Amino acid sequence: MIPQGGTIGILGGGQLGRMLAVAAAQLGYRCHIYAPEQDSIAADVGAAFTCADWHDAEALTRFVRDCDVITLEFENIPVAPLKAIPAGKLAPGTNALEVAQDRLREKRFVETLGGVPAPFAPVDSREDLDAAIERIGTPGILKTARDGYDGKGQWRIGSAHDADGIALPGVPLVYEGFVRFEGEFSVILVRGRDGAVRFWDSAENVHEHGILARSTVPADPAVARHVAAARKLATEVAIALDYVGVLTLEFFATAAGPVFNEMAPRVHNSGHWTIEGAITSQFENHIRAICGLPLGSTALVAPQVEMRNLIGDEASDSAAILADPANRLHLYGKAQAREGRKMGHVTRLGWI
Ligand code: AMP
Repeated sequence: MIPQGGTIGILGGGQLGRMLAVAAAQLGYRCHIYAPEQDSIAADVGAAFTCADWHDAEALTRFVRDCDVITLEFENIPVAPLKAIPAGKLAPGTNALEVAQDRLREKRFVETLGGVPAPFAPVDSREDLDAAIERIGTPGILKTARDGYDGKGQWRIGSAHDADGIALPGVPLVYEGFVRFEGEFSVILVRGRDGAVRFWDSAENVHEHGILARSTVPADPAVARHVAAARKLATEVAIALDYVGVLTLEFFATAAGPVFNEMAPRVHNSGHWTIEGAITSQFENHIRAICGLPLGSTALVAPQVEMRNLIGDEASDSAAILADPANRLHLYGKAQAREGRKMGHVTRLGWI
């Protein structure tokens, strides 16, 4: 167990790290943020900040020495330097990162555990793409296998002709059949060092332009009926990876059952509603899990919860948002609002 006053290292400096650091402070821990970007918003609330490249072995060694336990808020971190962190000190471990960083590996891994992803094919060349479209059909989506997030690195393919308009970026890609879904949902679980697993209620997620727009609890019954099967898969993923902390799996709800989309080895945007909407938030339970503390209840505190992301300039008028006293506003302190940039979120609890 990490004693009170201990130091939690967080790899990555974005809003997830910021909210983890706030939860850690509440439990009496200090946080040390490690990120390559000088304008890391997590560092604004952390006790210490190392701004260094992921491959800066000296800076990383100093950071590891200062921390009692280390976690991450971002999965696209080069794994090789992290292998120097003593086993058990990094939670979740590099094995989870290796799987989650690569869409192909992730889909194959989930298939070995009985999960069903959308039909997919690896694409490394134009010939591969033509063969994938031929086999899987259209519409489909071509995605970079690595480093994609919030709809970046994706090309919609409506017909085989669309392939002509794509300049392949020269990195490994995956072509996926387009899933006709009834809705999207995520399974968020927390697993303690003792193997105890708890789930939050599954939110129904609505994406716009590949970016999460809203998460709502409870999910529509057409979506909620798939949660049990999805939880079973998520539990198996967590056990297979010997996972410690919060783990997220995203699914499409289809007539044939839950179709796995992707996993994130971390707290997730679709779980931000848990700050006000659950007895223990995803951030607090992640800190509890990695520190070896007992996990908190994940039960709802209201029958309905909605979280809406504030994207681009939607967060610019905080007084207008706060004029509705039911709105709980979270701003991430990002300097520049850019199109598609997540600036904050608003949560509302509801009583029927
Ligand atoms: P991703 O970055 O893969 O999570 O994709 C972002 C969003 O794009 C998803 O949440 C869906 O709304 C949509 N999307 C991605 N892949 C597919 C697919 N194979 N079929 C249908 N919609 C998809």
